[in-house]
Parts: sequence; C-alpha cells; structure tokens
Amino acid sequence: MDLGINGKKALVCGASKGIGRAIALELAREGVEPILCARKSDVLEETAAAIRKETGVRVHHKACDLTLAKDRDELIKAVDETLKGIDILVLNTGGPKPSSALATTLDEWENGFHQLFQMIVHLNSGFIPKMKEKKWGRIVCVTSLSVMEPIANLAISNSMRSGVTAMLKTLSDELAQSGITINCLAPGAIATERLEELMDARIAKTGQSKEDYMKQYLSAIPMGRMGDPEEFAAMAAFLCSQRASYITGSTIAIDGGKRRSTY
Ligand code: NAD
Repeated sequence: MDLGINGKKALVCGASKGIGRAIALELAREGVEPILCARKSDVLEETAAAIRKETGVRVHHKACDLTLAKDRDELIKAVDETLKGIDILVLNTGGPKPSSALATTLDEWENGFHQLFQMIVHLNSGFIPKMKEKKWGRIVCVTSLSVMEPIANLAISNSMRSGVTAMLKTLSDELAQSGITINCLAPGAIATERLEELMDARIAKTGQSKEDYMKQYLSAIPMGRMGDPEEFAAMAAFLCSQRASYITGSTIAIDGGKRRSTY
C-alpha cells in the first residue's frame, strides 16, 4: 500500500530509542523527512545516522527536554527554521515514575502534568496553525493501555494519559473539518528499555524470579508475547498517512489482545 506521504515532514518526539525511534524509522521508510527530538544530542545523532543509512532520507535532530517550556519553545523555533513547518507530529516522551495514587506527592503530580499533558498542549499550539493553513496534518500521540485499564502503581500515567486522551478527543472534534486528524495509540507491552525497567522494578518488589514473572506476565497476553516496536510503528505510520484520512479522535490499542474491553 502506498501511504501517500513521501516528501512530508515530521517531528517525532522521544525518538532516540524505543517506540519513538521505531516510528521515526518507519516514517523515513515511507519517504518522510523527520526531525527527531529527545534530551541527548549524542544519542540523537547516532539514531539519526542509523535512520539516514537505512533509508537514504534527510534526518534532522534537536535536543530538547520536553518537560521544560523553554526547551519546547526552542524546539518549535528550530523545527520551523529547519523544515519550514511540519505535516506530521508524533507526540511521545518517557513515562513517569511509578507510584501509588496515595503516595504520589503534589510535586510529582505537577511534574507529571508538565511531562505528559502540558508538553502536548504546547507543541500542538506551536504546530497546528501551519497545518490549518495547509489544510492537512496528522497528529499521533503515544499513550498507554492504562487509559483503558488503569495499571497498578502507575498513578501518574493512568491519570495524565486519560486527561490527554480526553483533551485530544476534544481537539480532534474542533479540527475534524480542517484536514487534520488526531489519534492516540495505546501500547500494551512493547519490548523497549522502558518496559524492561518497569518489569525489573516489579520483580525487585515481589521477589519473584524473572522466569516466573515473565511466565505470569505473558499469560495475560492472548498472543503470549510482547510486541516489537516495529509492529507498533507500522500502525503509527498508517495513521500518519493519506490513507488514514477518515480516522480521527480514536484510541487504538496495540497489545496482542491484552485489553479486556471489547473495543
Ligand atoms: P523509552 O523510555 O524506551 O523511550 C522514551 C523516549 O523518550 C526516549 O527517546 C527518551 O530519550 C525520550 N525522553 C524521555 N524523557 C524525555 C524528555 N523529558 N524530553 C525529551 N525526550 C524524552 O519508552 P518506550 O517504551 O518507547 O515508550 C514510549 C512511551 O509509551 C512512554 O511514555 C511509555 O511510558 C509509554 N508506554 C510504553 C509501553 C511499552 O510497552 N513500551 C507501554 C505503555 C506505555
């Protein structure tokens, strides 16, 4: 299938590794010119070089701590200078620290709000005006299965990502006739460093062996395995494409069947 996005330009956030990196690579395979953002320039340079080598497309990068408003302002400026506007915005960043709802401090709630919610509002306001002028845009936000089924001890993720989903649904309604689509992708268990770290923390807490933990963990996934970041990125690239022109305001789970709801 030709996704019809050859020559489009994209900002992919949280793109130095994991899911963000896989999405940037998949978009570049479709001929999209991406600018990658994460906190560390050296890691970004390595990722950009690897994507350039594999796809032959121009790949840019800009270091930015997405939790900081000042950095986000600089990112918006740099993207405009480098690419003169983008067609595709992939909203993604690192996950918040695990904590129970009761033990999460006021400062931690506020940090989680800046990390997961304000970041999205800020980047949307920076890039949507030009998408509206072009009457074309694709926004894809990486959330979590926790928006459908809250996950124990991930209070900040459960709460902020549900708020993000509601906010983006509202925005998708407002932009539905402007050629801009907005959708969320909810990962279940995608094999990345972040998931590995969460699992190690849970194993340390329960005292289980890794083997026992993994057996139990995978038994809750009908496919019996974790997803590969590339499997996630394929759906992201589709939602960023011309072919996905009638899909907006949706959350799609990519979870090997893990969620227990029927939709
Ligand atoms: P990851 O930790 O492997 O990658 C996160 C990316 O974001 C990296 O490039 C990292 O450098 C970047 N990043 C982190 N903090 C940043 C900041 N302050 N500013 C800029 N960049 C920053 O995570 P992942 O597994 O690829 O997951 C991506 C998102 O999806 C995370 O928010 C995660 O919580 C969520 N999620 C993942 C899974 C999964 O199975 N992997 C499941 C549910 C939710």
